[in-house]
Amino acid sequence: PYAAIGVEINVDYVTAVAVDLSGERLLSWRRSFPGATSTVSQAVAAVAALVRRVAGRMAKEERQVLGLTVGVPGLVGTDGTVLIAPNLGWRDADLAGDLAKALRDPGFGVQIDNDANLAALAEHRFGSCAGTANLVYLTGEIGVGAGVVLDGRLRRGGRGYSGEIGHIQLDPLGAECRCGRLGCLEAVAGIAAVLQHAALSPAEVEIELEEVVRLARAGDRRTLDLLASVGHHLGKGVSVLANLLNPEVVILGGYYVPLAPWLLPAVAEEMRGRTIAPEAGGCQVVASTLGYGAAALGGAARVLDSVDSGRLPSL
Ligand code: BGC
Ligand code: ZN
Repeated sequence: PYAAIGVEINVDYVTAVAVDLSGERLLSWRRSFPGATSTVSQAVAAVAALVRRVAGRMAKEERQVLGLTVGVPGLVGTDGTVLIAPNLGWRDADLAGDLAKALRDPGFGVQIDNDANLAALAEHRFGSCAGTANLVYLTGEIGVGAGVVLDGRLRRGGRGYSGEIGHIQLDPLGAECRCGRLGCLEAVAGIAAVLQHAALSPAEVEIELEEVVRLARAGDRRTLDLLASVGHHLGKGVSVLANLLNPEVVILGGYYVPLAPWLLPAVAEEMRGRTIAPEAGGCQVVASTLGYGAAALGGAARVLDSVDSGRLPSL
């Protein structure tokens, strides 16, 4: 049998997923990782170690690995170089080259992609709106990015840098973004902003968010106001997407998922006021059901997309 591997490097974790040809998950691992303070070579070493373990596991199961895609929270060129990953502090990193060197002849191809792009591929293939021809995935991470599927295909733009909605300016006087500009969407509506305003530490995002959810459930006024304000900012961004692309679905992913019950009403309210077509042109906004591994799963999906399984010899 065969396997496809996807890995996601993010600001606070690395995730690995392996699937079989039908997309069934064979394993799903998540490790915390100090992305914001790690160099490119430290990240490469961490990813290579993880990939070796996944590949080892696949070998034990007598599975042949067809390929690996690594998702990165930044602008990935069509040549596999990372132009900038703002929240990792990376610029001009040859991640594809460095990883190939670290993995030395892994026996399978290695591709690099943007995390939001990969998550959108995962949604298109496996998510609750699978098969929807026009969808946008919005990452709720420390950064915010969009993966855009239009007319059934992921759209990358000229150099591969499309979907950088996290860096549109929402507030000229807003907080400084890690990209160096002021008031970017992710600086005002990313998860770091949520935690900062809730006076929680961004080190253990998953655990801290549970506290935000607990307070929201308990009706804590400050928390409800904070989530409404983040939802309104997010709604401005989603309205831009709805006006520009007319997606059928916008999927809120990552850390936005546990917060969705409080974010979605504010998003809907913004959209009513800001979109030119009635009911946002038929755009639904939903929370992802794929969990925190969506980008890694999409990495594996990208591998599956690149092979013609009908032509593989049966193993
Ligand atoms: C990056 C995007 C990325 C997003 C989510 C943003 O800061 O610019 O490329 O998709 O964060 O990780
Ligand atoms: Zn920015």
